[in-house]
Amino acid sequence: MEVEEFRTEVRQWLADNLVGDYAALKGLGGPGREHEAFEERLAWNQHLAKAGLTCLGWPEEHGGRGLTTAHRVAFYEEYAKADAPDKVNHLGEELLGPTLIAYGTPEQQQRFLPRILDVTELWSQGYSEPGAGSDLANVATSAELDGDAWIINGQKVWTSLAHWAQWCFVIARTEKGSKRHAGLSYLLVPLDQPGVEIRPIIQLTGDSEFNEVFFDDARTDADLVVGEPGDGWRVAMGTLTFERGVSTLGQQIRYRRELLGIVELAKKTGAADDPLIRERLTRSWAGLQTMRSYAMATMDLGDGDRTGSAMGGGQDSVSKLLWANWHRELGEIAMDVRGAAGLTLDDGEFDEWQRLYLFSRSDTIYGGSNEIQRNIIAERVLGLPREAKG
Ligand SMILES: Cc1cc2nc3c(=O)[nH]c(=O)nc-3n(C[C@H](O)[C@H](O)[C@H](O)COP(=O)(O)OP(=O)(O)OC[C@H]3O[C@@H](n4cnc5c(N)ncnc54)[C@H](O)[C@@H]3O)c2cc1C
Repeated sequence: MEVEEFRTEVRQWLADNLVGDYAALKGLGGPGREHEAFEERLAWNQHLAKAGLTCLGWPEEHGGRGLTTAHRVAFYEEYAKADAPDKVNHLGEELLGPTLIAYGTPEQQQRFLPRILDVTELWSQGYSEPGAGSDLANVATSAELDGDAWIINGQKVWTSLAHWAQWCFVIARTEKGSKRHAGLSYLLVPLDQPGVEIRPIIQLTGDSEFNEVFFDDARTDADLVVGEPGDGWRVAMGTLTFERGVSTLGQQIRYRRELLGIVELAKKTGAADDPLIRERLTRSWAGLQTMRSYAMATMDLGDGDRTGSAMGGGQDSVSKLLWANWHRELGEIAMDVRGAAGLTLDDGEFDEWQRLYLFSRSDTIYGGSNEIQRNIIAERVLGLPREAKG
């Protein structure tokens, strides 16, 4: 199916289906607002699945639609334009599913992919630990094979959505005494068991989007290791390559809506008369256009390799730096437009702009912090000497 034909189909489907109870979900969810109508968004996500509108890029033999990047971009753009609620299983659909398709056994694929497709099992990502964030190779959580099960001990942190998920993909050290990237394995671990304790981390807003996850003799089946035992680093890095990509363009339409909302607010409150605010809003608009052009130029839309060597490499890091800094600045502009009113709560509730400000502080940290992205560019693109270790 042609991209424009598909786009029309998606637009029509959303117009026909985002009605009734579902219409009340418009604009809900997303980073910083995951607590909003979670169960209802889950039901909406399952409704999308029934219409074949999840996992669009997965190959058809695995239940997907085998659609190109250009089709998926069209989907995300229409989805964002319709103000459809944020989906709830990004980690399953965009990270674990593609990882299982690339590295999983046929048994693992048959066991897990259908339930990601129909959104009946949700996933979380167990990478970071108190001593392993940017320096992920420092993972200390251990797993030992005991008969037909792995026995897991240790702690993960910042585990997004684990309190709603049934499963977690966990990087654990399975070779005693191993160091750094060696001796790690990629395990699929059920969360609903006595050996797992999930403690939500309460944010300043009072909501919890991520958690500490403690493993105390937690168990998972011996065959639920993805790739070979000890080869988990390779699989874990494979997952990260799926993390970026097409959803960026849909995300930018959400950003556009946020920026235009702030412009309207500035007109209403009179902040638009302030020359500095006008300047920052205008720069923000220009930044949005730059991000879009960059995303289009570096994304392979199926019509040839646009990420070619002319760009000089490091595109993912540049893209991350562009959107993370842009969005963090937008949060600051929102607060300045609100002025003193932004410092108080109405009925004890944070509003959309206060939430935007607070959550966007984390944009330059997760998915690889600004400093890490710049290190990648320095070392891998510019060939600067490796940074000195302290
Ligand atoms: C909203 C959010 C959701 C998240 N969700 C998940 C999740 O679902 N699963 C998961 O596993 N993790 C998740 N994380 C964790 C995220 O991956 C880590 O926060 C990130 O990798 C940074 O690690 P850290 O927090 O330990 O900070 P650190 O690595 O301790 O970094 C602290 C500071 O030091 C800087 N720094 C570190 N190393 C260097 C260096 N070599 N050179 C220069 N500067 C350096 C960093 O840039 C940062 O400013 C999430 C984080 C956030 C904020």
